[in-house]
Amino acid sequence: MTSDLTQSLGSFVRSASGKTTTSSSNAEFWAGMASQIVNQIADSWETTTGTYQTGRQEHYFSAEFLMGRALLNNLSNLGLLEEAQAAVAAEGADLADVLEAEHDAALGNGGLGRLAACFLDSCATMNLPVTGYGILYRYGLFKQTIDSGFQNEHPDPWMEEGYPFVIRREEEARYVRFSDMDVRAIPYDMPITGYNTKNVNTLRLWKSEPIEEFDYDAFNSQRFTDAIVEREHVADLCRVLYPNDTTYEGKVLRVRQQYFFVSASLQTMIDVYKREHGNDLRDFGKYNSVQLNDTHPVLAIPELMRLLMDDNGLSWDDAWAVVQQTFAYTNHTVLAEALETWEVSIFKKLFPRILAIVQEIDRRFREELATAGWHPGKIEYMAPVSGGSVHMAWIACYAAFSINGVAALHTEIIKRETLHDWHDIWPEKFNNKTNGVTQRRWLNSCNIPLANLLTEELGSDAWVTDLAQLEQLIDRADDPALHRRLIEIKRSNKERFASWVKGRQGVDIPIDAIYDVQIKRLHEYKRQLLNGMYILDLYYRLKDDPSLDIAPRVFIFGAKAAPGYKRAKAIIKLINEIGRVVNNDPDMAGRLTVLWVENYNVTPAEYIIPAADVSEQISTAGKEASGTSNMKFMMNGALTLGTMDGANVEIHEAVGDDNAYIFGAREEDLPELRKRYNPREAYETVPGLKRVLDSFVNGVLDDGGSGDFYDLLTSLLDGSSWEDADVYYLLGDFADYRDVRDRMAEDYKDQDKWAKMCWVNIVKSGRFSSDRTINDYAQQVWKIEPAAI
Ligand code: PLP
Repeated sequence: MTSDLTQSLGSFVRSASGKTTTSSSNAEFWAGMASQIVNQIADSWETTTGTYQTGRQEHYFSAEFLMGRALLNNLSNLGLLEEAQAAVAAEGADLADVLEAEHDAALGNGGLGRLAACFLDSCATMNLPVTGYGILYRYGLFKQTIDSGFQNEHPDPWMEEGYPFVIRREEEARYVRFSDMDVRAIPYDMPITGYNTKNVNTLRLWKSEPIEEFDYDAFNSQRFTDAIVEREHVADLCRVLYPNDTTYEGKVLRVRQQYFFVSASLQTMIDVYKREHGNDLRDFGKYNSVQLNDTHPVLAIPELMRLLMDDNGLSWDDAWAVVQQTFAYTNHTVLAEALETWEVSIFKKLFPRILAIVQEIDRRFREELATAGWHPGKIEYMAPVSGGSVHMAWIACYAAFSINGVAALHTEIIKRETLHDWHDIWPEKFNNKTNGVTQRRWLNSCNIPLANLLTEELGSDAWVTDLAQLEQLIDRADDPALHRRLIEIKRSNKERFASWVKGRQGVDIPIDAIYDVQIKRLHEYKRQLLNGMYILDLYYRLKDDPSLDIAPRVFIFGAKAAPGYKRAKAIIKLINEIGRVVNNDPDMAGRLTVLWVENYNVTPAEYIIPAADVSEQISTAGKEASGTSNMKFMMNGALTLGTMDGANVEIHEAVGDDNAYIFGAREEDLPELRKRYNPREAYETVPGLKRVLDSFVNGVLDDGGSGDFYDLLTSLLDGSSWEDADVYYLLGDFADYRDVRDRMAEDYKDQDKWAKMCWVNIVKSGRFSSDRTINDYAQQVWKIEPAAI
């Protein structure tokens, strides 16, 4: 009997391509099958939306959703994978090739956006009434090429060729007004399927359009170009995702984007509320809460005040009570300087009414704290408006009923430092929600051989929706037969990755080697440079003594640098230069290989992580809020080589000293260590360090005459002053990093010991499932219940 999918695939593909299936490309097969999936889930999707709207709902506001590919995820969630394979084969094509034709939806920079995507997956799987809201960027995060070792950026028009997984909802458009322009906000809804459930949740992405298609007066008076320019001005609003997660450019446009999507989202929520619960908006917070993913959506706070007071007649006090019941705020950074502030003048220019509301929030805040007897200096520091700027995080801390960090250590640091004034006054608002990742995408779909082994060992696939079940398998850790299978699986994943890299970048890498991986945004605090320094040191050691008996190593990097972040781009070039030297030296053939994976994104991560042996998580202690790649590696049986930072601390706690490689200065010790720290002394005294650092400028490595490597060197040795020399403590941690990393490579030679450690990591990864994180949010913050349709 032929299945539904097989029967109708041909029609969908022909509709997408306008050709016979024989002539249709893989991309056209992809488009056809994507439409077919939307067709299959349409009824359940509508029912789910309707069901959620009658009860209490959570709304996840995020400027970023780093979704990656959707088709495989949907097929797997809906249990249609085998059918799809057969259906595509019946038309003479291959499902793997069809899946490979999909572009990544890269509407995010890195961890923060990918977290939002994992959360949506967990919410749908757990039948939780949660909707995501964001922006339909026409260009996602830039595409990276590496040319002569340098990063170049190219636009990523990810949906230009059509994207069936977003549905335009013309009838649900809203208006968003700025002082200088009014725009129409059109929702594009993406269905979010859950694993093995009928519920289909929604990610609503807003697109800006002109209120009128054309300014016909301009058009008719022959000012055709003016009419087009105005159109483009409105389209600019959603044109591009800001390629930076810590510093901001194009500020006015950025603020416009933020206001645009939160205003449209809140308007929809209010309309639904009125339809379901009547016109008395004082109960709005009973039925709705909003999680603010970092400060990017914090304009929702004054905007909800405006909508409640100006459009719905609530008093200030009633509106403020609703606001305080509605918003919860997630902090993602310990760096106080990275918290968003905007010049008051920007608010004045874009939305004077919002500025007036923010100023009134500020006035009341100052009054409240003064009455409670707080010191005027403290009040001035914490005030929502001060020094000519609006402080988005301060507005969030004041209005929100919940403030959370994203790993235990991070939450402690924000309580103690970044947000300590707030913690002094409102300790009850603070809570920790350690991040998590979805095992459906990051294990079940991307590492099928390991998934099959786990299902076989457990006797069921219950782990796919309850990862903690794997812990039952802990006593299998000593079985040599199991070790053999783990090693085989890792090897087959390395083969798969190597052949993918060969096809993509044309390079060959050895299979039988330690795959040692650092993939994440390029940032000085993440210390990719420290990793590179180790490689250069090892290279010199091998040159000195070719008889050194080391396990062969493949060092894999993937990272994008913000286009304006000069030093990060210099580090990319430096690592590629180290690669040039190492890879071109015949003495290193088969021993050391350095690989830069271009255009790191969700899909490359899905190939790299299952093949990894070592997970480099080497940020300066105290700087990484959580990290999530660390969890994905753990789940796939890679061992963490890391500092006591972010969620590494909890990974270490879960697996114990014997199953993780921890090094470097501790966060609590760094202030003391820094007092007597002299990087020049380390440079002179730590064996090998001088040789490595001198290579930056003595002609071994070539920065193309840019002077960038000299700048890197002086940033480490001298800084611009005594205090900021080597701020991220690379030279301080170098010796310990080298010792631990050498020991790790030595341990790899004992494959049984290694496989046992991998197994412990895999089976202990339960607490890093985003299902656990979401369950905590749902029960402790959002107060929502599952609503299966
Ligand atoms: N970018 C992508 C594509 C990811 O998948 C992830 C997480 O796995 C990140 C960035 C964040 O990486 P990290 O947690 O190492 O900063």
